[in-house]
Amino acid sequence: MINADQIVELFPFSVQLDSDGVIRRVGRTLQRRLPDYLGRRIDEVFDVRRWTDTPIDGSAHDWIDRPLQLRIKGDPLLLVGTFSEVGGGLLFLGGPRLSHVEELGPLDLSIDDFASHDGVMTYLVLLQQMRAASSEAAAAANELAARARGYRQIVEQSNDLILSLGADGEVLFANPEACRLLPIVAGETVFSALLSGGQDGAWAECLTMLSEGGASVWVELALRGRSDGQVLVEGPLVRSAAAEEPDVLLAFFRDVSERKRAQSELARSTEQLRRSQKMEAIGRFAGGIAHDFNNLLGVVMGAGGMLKDDLPDGDPRLKDVDLILASAEKGSALARRLLMFSKKQPAAASETDLVACTRSLMQILTRVLGTGTSLKFEPDASKVVVAIEPGQFEQVLMNLVVNARDAMSDGGQILLRISVLPEGEGALVEVSDQGEGMTEDVLQKAFEPFFTTKPTDKGTGLGLSVVYGIISDAGGEIDVTSSPGHGTTFSIRMPTKLHSSSPAGAEVVSDDVAIQQKAFAVLLEDQDDLRRLTSRGLSGIGFDVQAFRSIRECRAGMRGLERKVDLFVTDVMLGDGNGLDLAEELASEGVLGPVIVITGHASLGRIDDLIARFGWRLLMKPFTMRQLQLVAAQFSPARSDTG
Ligand code: ADP
Ligand code: MG
Repeated sequence: MINADQIVELFPFSVQLDSDGVIRRVGRTLQRRLPDYLGRRIDEVFDVRRWTDTPIDGSAHDWIDRPLQLRIKGDPLLLVGTFSEVGGGLLFLGGPRLSHVEELGPLDLSIDDFASHDGVMTYLVLLQQMRAASSEAAAAANELAARARGYRQIVEQSNDLILSLGADGEVLFANPEACRLLPIVAGETVFSALLSGGQDGAWAECLTMLSEGGASVWVELALRGRSDGQVLVEGPLVRSAAAEEPDVLLAFFRDVSERKRAQSELARSTEQLRRSQKMEAIGRFAGGIAHDFNNLLGVVMGAGGMLKDDLPDGDPRLKDVDLILASAEKGSALARRLLMFSKKQPAAASETDLVACTRSLMQILTRVLGTGTSLKFEPDASKVVVAIEPGQFEQVLMNLVVNARDAMSDGGQILLRISVLPEGEGALVEVSDQGEGMTEDVLQKAFEPFFTTKPTDKGTGLGLSVVYGIISDAGGEIDVTSSPGHGTTFSIRMPTKLHSSSPAGAEVVSDDVAIQQKAFAVLLEDQDDLRRLTSRGLSGIGFDVQAFRSIRECRAGMRGLERKVDLFVTDVMLGDGNGLDLAEELASEGVLGPVIVITGHASLGRIDDLIARFGWRLLMKPFTMRQLQLVAAQFSPARSDTG
C-alpha cells in the first residue's frame, strides 16, 4: 500500500479531499501552482464540470467514478480524470487535457511536471510523430498535386495536338488544341475516322511499326479539320510508358498546315521565276539569232527579187529563183515569230476589245478546226479592253486553238472563255480542251521554243513560245493546267484598260510630196550587202542615191550637200549609234524631207512618235525589194511605173 507522500509524488496532478470536500493534499505539480489550497473547499479552488464541459450538481460523493473536468480557477490548466473513494475521503487522479506537446509551453508545464509512469509524454511524443509523418505525407501529396497541375497545364496549354489512343484506336484523351482543330468527341471518336482520304495506308504502316516493337514512329498525316479544310500534322506517335496501359498510344502532333502551304507557295513562285528566267535567256538568244538571220534573209530576198526581175520570162532558172524566194520567205516568217517571242519584235502600242476581236476571228478559227472539233465561245463580259495589238491577240488565240485541236485527235469541244476578274485583277482568257493532256515532263518544256511532241511536218514548237512572248509583253501571265487524259486549260491574265486612249496607229497618211523629175535619196545602212541592195532598189525607181555606212560619215556628208534631200532612208541600230537620233536631229534642223525607217527590232514607241510627228514611214526587216520600192515610190518620180 502506498502512503500519502508517495501519491503526491506519483500523481503530480492528484487532489485528495476529506469527507467534507475540503482539500487535504495535492500532487506535486499542483502544489507548485496552488500556493494556498490547503483547508479550502474543492469548489472554491476548482470548477468541476462533466467531461462534456456541462455543469454538474450534487455533492462531491456524486462525482465518484465519472469522467470529470477540473478547471483551476484563475489558471488555464484543465485537468481530466476521475474521483475515487480512498480512506474515507476522495482521491482525484488525472492529468492535463493536452493533445500535443506544443501546448505545454503556454500552460507553463514541462516534462518534469509529469510522472514518468503515466504515459502522457509517451503518448504526446507518439502523437507528435504521427502528426509529423502525416504532415509530410500531406506535403508530398500537395507536391504531387502541384506537379500534376503543372503537367496538366503543359498539356492543356500546348500548341501541339496531344492525344492518347486506346487499343482499338479510340481517342481516350485529346488536349484543347486537338479539340479545337479536329472534330473529336471525347470517348466516341476513333482516330482513323479523322484521317483525310487516302491516308489509311500510311496510318496502318505506323501502327504496324509500333506493334513490331518500335517505341515511337514519326508520323506525317493529313487529318480532317473541324471546318472544311485539312489539318496537316506531323510528330511522334509513341507507346505509353505506363505499365498498366501497354496498349495506349500517345500522339504529339504539330499543326504544320501553314508551313506546308508556305513551302508549296515558295516552290511555286521559285518555279515561276525559274521558268521566266529560262524564257528570258532563251528569248535573248533566239532574238539575237533571229535578228542576224533577218538581215541575211533581207539580202537573199532582195538579191533574189532582183535576179528574178532580170531573168527573161520563160527562163527555166526562174523556178530556182522562186524556190529561193519562197524558202527565204518561210525563213523570214520563222524569224519574225522568234523575234516576237523574244519581245524584240516591235509591236504597235494599241488596245483591243478581246471579246469583239475573238468574235471577228471565230469564223477563221472554226475553219482551221475542220470537222469533228467544235469551238464554243463564252464571253462573260460584253467588252474587255486590254493593251495588246489585235493581231497579236489573234496569234495567241490561233496558236492555243490549233494546239487544242491537235490534242483532240478524235475530235471534241474547245471552250474559249473571256471574263473580267474581280477587284481590278484584269482580264482572264481561258482555252480548254478535253484532249490527251500533257505529262509533267511535257508541261515543263511546253513553252520552250522548238519544243514539240508533234511530227516535224506538223509542229515547229514555236506556238507557245510566241504566245508566251506576246502575253508577257502585254504585261500578262499565262498558266497551264493539264494532266494526261484529262485535257488542258490555258489561262491568261492580262491587265485591263480602264481609260481608253486614242490608239496610236502605225498607219500614218503622209502628206503628198511634190515629186521632182529626178529625186535624191540619202541611205544610211551599215551592212554592206543590204546597203548595196537597198541602193539598187532605190535607183531602180528613179532615185539618185547617196549611201553612207555610219552616222559619223552621214552627218558629215549631209552637212556638205548642195541638193535638197527628197528621201532619207535609215537603219536604226548602226555600228556607231542610233539612226533615229540622226534623223531626228536633221529633221529638226529642217534638212530632211520624208524619212523611211528600216528596222528589225527597236522600241516602237519612239518610232511611232516620230512617225506621228514627221509623217515618216516604217519598213520592217526583212523586206523584199518590192516592198521597199512600193514605200519609196511615193516619194519618187517614177512611182507610177512601179507595182
Ligand atoms: P507545236 O504545236 O508546234 O508542237 P507549241 O509550242 O504550240 O508547238 O506546243 C508545244 C508542245 O506543247 C506541243 O507539241 C504539245 O506537246 C504541247 N501542247 C501544247 N498545247 C497542248 C494542248 N492543248 N494539249 C496537249 N498538249 C499540248
Ligand atoms: Mg502549236
